[in-house]
Amino acid sequence: MKRGPSPARAGARQRPRASLRAHPNTRARSSRAAAQPEIHPIPAWIARKRDGGELDDGALRAIIVGATRGTIPDYQLSALLMAIVWRGMSGRELATWLDAMVDSGERMDLSGVAGVKVDKHSTGGVGDKVSLCLAPLVAACGVPVPMMSGRSLGHTGGTLDKLEAIPGFRTALTPRAFARVLEKTGLVLAGQSATLAPADRRLYALRDATGTVESIPLIASSILSKKIAEGANALVMDVKVGRGAFLPARARARELARTLVDLGARAGLKVVALLTAMDQPLGRAVGNACELAEAIAILRGGGPPDTRALTLRLGAEMLMLGKRTTTRAQGLRLLEEAVASGAGLQKLRDCVQAQGGDVAVIDAPERLPRATLAHTLRARAGGPRGLGLVVRGIDAGAVGRAMTLLGAGRLRQEDRVDPGVGLELAVKVGARVEPGGPLGTVRFNDRERWRLARPLLESAFELAEVGGGGGADLDTQPGPLVLETIGKRA
Ligand code: URA
Repeated sequence: MKRGPSPARAGARQRPRASLRAHPNTRARSSRAAAQPEIHPIPAWIARKRDGGELDDGALRAIIVGATRGTIPDYQLSALLMAIVWRGMSGRELATWLDAMVDSGERMDLSGVAGVKVDKHSTGGVGDKVSLCLAPLVAACGVPVPMMSGRSLGHTGGTLDKLEAIPGFRTALTPRAFARVLEKTGLVLAGQSATLAPADRRLYALRDATGTVESIPLIASSILSKKIAEGANALVMDVKVGRGAFLPARARARELARTLVDLGARAGLKVVALLTAMDQPLGRAVGNACELAEAIAILRGGGPPDTRALTLRLGAEMLMLGKRTTTRAQGLRLLEEAVASGAGLQKLRDCVQAQGGDVAVIDAPERLPRATLAHTLRARAGGPRGLGLVVRGIDAGAVGRAMTLLGAGRLRQEDRVDPGVGLELAVKVGARVEPGGPLGTVRFNDRERWRLARPLLESAFELAEVGGGGGADLDTQPGPLVLETIGKRA
């Protein structure tokens, strides 16, 4: 398997250079091979996987080449993906599959950019705007951050959609432009270009449409293929656990985290994975523009405590992987200084400017798009004993699905997201609320969509009567945000 540039090689400041290596698979596209696809026993391979057998390396590589070139039709790929969901993959199969996915396109060599390049990725959450404030803070502390993000998937939001709430901001960068912005600002926030891991683009789209997202080998290979192709040296993974996560059960999330760490190590990418709670939405804002505004608030030293704590914690891991610090405490201190001095906010401004966005919205987030209609969600009128209420749960999955219905995410791949749709929570789990008191304000542009989303959103709030002595409040306090850390930093 090819290796990324080692941290040791990436030390000295050199002339900016980003080279691309095209794999023979991509180069051969226009040749005779594209007109005359090789004949492979795809139905037999699907059946072997369906029955719990293993595929050899040649078959796995041929499948990825066929997926990339479009010579294997959707129906065969979909059947194979479903067989993988049910049967999984052996360690050898997964390593070959990942290698083939990386080789399906170009691979960036960012060794001309000084320092250990560290990216961060989340398996997908609701209200998770952490990347938007984390990446500038880490870059401001001196670790280059090449961040390649995704769009909304299922009920979860996507960093690219949030960034595109900034007028003019370009997330579609060529690999060369990606490297240039990284060299200039130490931070680049972009989407997967058409030439990096193109096999993943095809498989990801099919998985979203065929109920085959929830597979540990498929999720791990999808994420890592992009990170390896983009030229990152290290990766911090935020693996979500709970009602708003793709893999809600902690044991499955842990298995995914271990797979990411081990598979990354085999491919030369150092990965540290944190399991973090995704039972209630993160922070108070859910939507695109409003989440960006909340991330800017964090960079200004405000914002909700849970989002701020998770940002600093993930950032401290990135600084250790980037060899900037050796302890978590040092990292937290540096990151807090970058907030207090405004260096993190300035880094976001620099990146927005370099990518063609309107920097004015960073200093005046109230200029970001906002939907025209609003509704305040209210607690019911109180229990039979006339006692107060406490928020026992806010189902992140239900909130995410309701916001997707309203247009903050996509129901079909070709849908455009509405950046101004959003929810501002007035309460979090454990809060006391007066009968009839506000739970949150939802903004939308389409009354018909609101009619569909409203019952789902209202059902997300679980309220309980307070016993009067405060016991119920203690029961409802949320648990820790970071549940486990998997993988070694050194
Ligand atoms: N994020 C990805 O990039 N791929 C997946 O399969 C799931 C989350």
